[in-house]
Amino acid sequence: MNVPEMFGSMVFNDKVMREMLPKKVYQSLQNTMIEGKALDDDVADIVASAMKEWAVSKGATHFTHWFQPMTGITAEKHDSFITVDKDGCIIMDFSGKELTKGEPDASSFPSGGLRATFEARGYTAWDPTSYAFIKDDTLCIPTAFCSYTGQILDKKTPLLRSMDAISGEAVRALALFGKKVKRVNATIGAEQEYFLIDKSDYSKRLDLRLTGRTLIGAPAAKGQEMEDHYFGSIRPRVKAFMADLDEELWKLGITAKTEHNEVAPCQHEMAPIFDNANKATDANQLTMEMMKKVAERHGFACLLHEKPFEGINGSGKHNNWALSTDEGENLLDPGKTPKDNAQFLLFLTAVIKAVDEYQDLLRISVASAGNDHRLGANEAPPAIVSIFVGDELDAVISSIVDGVPFKGRESSRLDIGTSVLPKLARDNSDRNRTSPFAFTGNKFEFRMPGSSFNIACTNVMLNTAVADALKEFCDVLEKADDFNASLGALIKKELKEHRRILFNGNGYSKKWEKEAEARGLSNYKRTPDALVHYCDEKNMALFKRHGIYTEEEMRSRLEISLDEYQKAIHIEASTMLEMLRRQILPSSMKFASALASSVNLKEGIGITSYSDKALCSKVSSLCDALLNKTDELDECVSACPEDVEKAAFHAADRIIPLMDEARKLSDELETVTDKSFWPVPTYSDILFYV
Ligand code: ADP
Ligand code: MG
Repeated sequence: MNVPEMFGSMVFNDKVMREMLPKKVYQSLQNTMIEGKALDDDVADIVASAMKEWAVSKGATHFTHWFQPMTGITAEKHDSFITVDKDGCIIMDFSGKELTKGEPDASSFPSGGLRATFEARGYTAWDPTSYAFIKDDTLCIPTAFCSYTGQILDKKTPLLRSMDAISGEAVRALALFGKKVKRVNATIGAEQEYFLIDKSDYSKRLDLRLTGRTLIGAPAAKGQEMEDHYFGSIRPRVKAFMADLDEELWKLGITAKTEHNEVAPCQHEMAPIFDNANKATDANQLTMEMMKKVAERHGFACLLHEKPFEGINGSGKHNNWALSTDEGENLLDPGKTPKDNAQFLLFLTAVIKAVDEYQDLLRISVASAGNDHRLGANEAPPAIVSIFVGDELDAVISSIVDGVPFKGRESSRLDIGTSVLPKLARDNSDRNRTSPFAFTGNKFEFRMPGSSFNIACTNVMLNTAVADALKEFCDVLEKADDFNASLGALIKKELKEHRRILFNGNGYSKKWEKEAEARGLSNYKRTPDALVHYCDEKNMALFKRHGIYTEEEMRSRLEISLDEYQKAIHIEASTMLEMLRRQILPSSMKFASALASSVNLKEGIGITSYSDKALCSKVSSLCDALLNKTDELDECVSACPEDVEKAAFHAADRIIPLMDEARKLSDELETVTDKSFWPVPTYSDILFYV
């Protein structure tokens, strides 16, 4: 296999454009891509024609505008290239207009009331900063999705806006240090966790098929306690899957870099090489899709849900985040010279301030019914947002805030009145796995996102909040007479103010929850608790200030998120009811009746059977309790309020506790029911398949 040759072979990338486009057209497209200049119609026609020629040569017959509506998954509507020409012949055609603008029927995508249904028209617009690619014989054109009145209906548009916001402010900040750069990009590396289970087990479980997770299931005799799966040797069948996945991703220009086993049985991870936030987000969306598709080919089902199985770890997505100039300088690298150190401290301070001031937004960006099972459950960071910077950087920050020289380094001080940074040991800073937001040497790793999430939302929050902190800093520093003195004073003041968000200890401990409360940090345990803060005044003001969302767009997003949550719980509860009533109860009752017959038979020949009787009575009483619980759950589900916020709280306060109670009874039944009667594959069947 020639990897360099294969890599990106299905992508209309820079190399292809250079080869296929006239020089002038290529240049004009570059200007659009780098500087965001509008594309001329003539140029679009030429690009479209080259794109079509390339795509057809690769076997493509269709094209689609590939976009990311609020559902979180990517959407596509395929059109074929065929057109009938004047002579009635079929030709393959693709115009600039078709490339730059599409009109999917938008009425069935969630809009949170932004578009009245009678004018449910939306359009998609080409995003030339993310390359077009071929998937399933279809040319996919990454696009943004808006309503005709200009309101945004997708996840890509706000991400692009937030990238512009942070670029603008970071460029300003760098100018203060005498650096002239054109663009600063937020860079993202999204580590993706997932489960692979045998397709035949998956097919037999209604809960997995409809909700992505097991709603019932007693724990297997073995879980993850032996720690023998993490980085363990990979089963040949899984290895074949990973090799195939790598190949598919490489063809799409996705830099799949590492593949390994994770902590839980059947759990794995893939990490790509980082890229700018827009491309990394598109790549992650495609990665998730490819994982599912390739899994099918290998007789697996790929589970991307945050918590497919109770009692073992769920899956997350680590969002590694840094800032990089167009010259390739990483602004979160402490650097080697004192000047770089000072610049690093300014950017570090901006991140600390941003995360403290907008902890609620970061929490909201990872809130979902699925992720509620992970956060704070001793396997993932708590619902409290805090930052881990490591002992050394912590000591530096203490020395700045408290004004005492950094230990042993009195002699080397920066112009800004603080000590020169020590050389940070990378491994040291990566040790704390319990922190939700960890500095790992030259980037931050945000560990709260769920495995099934579109990472756009998290990065919109992060980019915008950091842009806002930088804006505030630049507004002060640009006016300063003595730059170094002002910079020193500003860093000191801000770190002092936002120090409460720094925490190096064990994020899983109860003690931290108490301490965080004393520090005034928010702790929103469930999705609706967090979501209701989305439209808080300060958050609305932030997004308005940077031109990311209007207030109306924010309110619509809140409504969509609340609705998505309550629907997810509703579907889970209904699925559970169906399984309990039509599979679990009838099966256990059959088992009880078999036991009863056996008691009868035995007594007929004069044997008193204690065990059959005892077991029959246990199974029967569990069935009674479970039947009552299903009725209670059914009633509760039917009593769902109309109002979307009330419905979300109804789900969290009432439906979920009842589901937990029903599950407990069902799981107890499972442990006493003859396996040959049990209607669905169990945890040991699924997690320890052969
Ligand atoms: P680990 O976190 O396991 O130590 P690495 O730090 O090598 O592994 O990388 C984890 C992820 O972070 C990878 O996806 C990598 O591409 C990404 N990453 C590395 N540097 C940056 C950066 N400057 N910006 C964003 N992501 C980065
Ligand atoms: Mg990592």
